[in-house]
Amino acid sequence: MTKKNLFHILLLLTSLVSCEKTSNQFENTNEDPYAYIQRSCGYEEITDQDLIVKNKGQAEKIKHLEKQTEILTGQFNKSNNKDLPVIKVPIIFHIVRSGDMPKISKEIIQSQINALNDAYNPKKLDKSNIPDEFKDLMANPKIEFFTHKIINKESNIINWHKTEELIKNPKEGSKIIEPKKYLNVYVCNTIYGTNSDNPILGYAWNPYKTRDSNDGVVVTYKAFGRHNFKNDYTQGKTLVHEIGHYLNLSHIWGPNDKKSGATYCQLGDGVDDTPNASNPNYDCPSYPLIKDIVCKISGKEEVYQTSLMFMNYMDYVNDECMHMFTFGQVERMRATFKPGGGRDRLIK
Ligand SMILES: [Zn+2]
Repeated sequence: MTKKNLFHILLLLTSLVSCEKTSNQFENTNEDPYAYIQRSCGYEEITDQDLIVKNKGQAEKIKHLEKQTEILTGQFNKSNNKDLPVIKVPIIFHIVRSGDMPKISKEIIQSQINALNDAYNPKKLDKSNIPDEFKDLMANPKIEFFTHKIINKESNIINWHKTEELIKNPKEGSKIIEPKKYLNVYVCNTIYGTNSDNPILGYAWNPYKTRDSNDGVVVTYKAFGRHNFKNDYTQGKTLVHEIGHYLNLSHIWGPNDKKSGATYCQLGDGVDDTPNASNPNYDCPSYPLIKDIVCKISGKEEVYQTSLMFMNYMDYVNDECMHMFTFGQVERMRATFKPGGGRDRLIK
């Protein structure tokens, strides 16, 4: 969790404690941690812990594949976007129920598929929520998802701390199935990262940092599909965000300097057309959202102001405020389906 997020939650908790116990919001916090948290996903935490630094082979692989992304970038631009073939991706849903988690109906699963396809392969791009400044940057990934199989499991584990147990332990979780060929999506009860007491909405592995045995995308049922739970994640956008990671997207702020919090502006999120950002944006900001960006360039820190693209799927805003991928992001995602791109065997 970022310091900022922690600050927000502490602030919120402080204000909640001062509320009367009869307030609905307070009652929700007792019953459902997802009713009051701001978005947080486990992507950075698990990729920080991965083998990039420790394992030269892994680092080399990432470098090679980043190069691959760069090469493939040249084959994609705005003018040929409409002629791109649609990439079809089969999903195996693992519904791992425990505690008070209800049955997940086929309709909810279909609503999640619809939410994915509305973001990844809309019939027409809806730019009504995109500010003029960013309208021309909005792109259609032309990636379509469909249900290949649904697996229902019962478990005794309610709070999932050890990420891999859900995926690797066939007794309590559900064993992953041919992750090179299928996108394995896990829907479970409450998820916790390793560095925080607050629940997260989900997580996914970058295609170049994962191992076959853990390559599932995980989401809590409280943010799965289009539903009526009382939280800010009711439109199925959490899985849109997590699959962005699965297809090689970073958060829009990219990696930060762990000591100063400055962002590596030259590196960023590896995408040219998303403005640099230092930190996540939460809730539903109003446009324009102009913030100071602290850039670390060649060891020196510089500050400048930027209008942030908070409505991007790879930020941390609420579902109702996430609306777009950019051309640069689409380039990166589609590059993963090219030979050697990490997701090339998923295509049906
Ligand atoms: Zn994320």
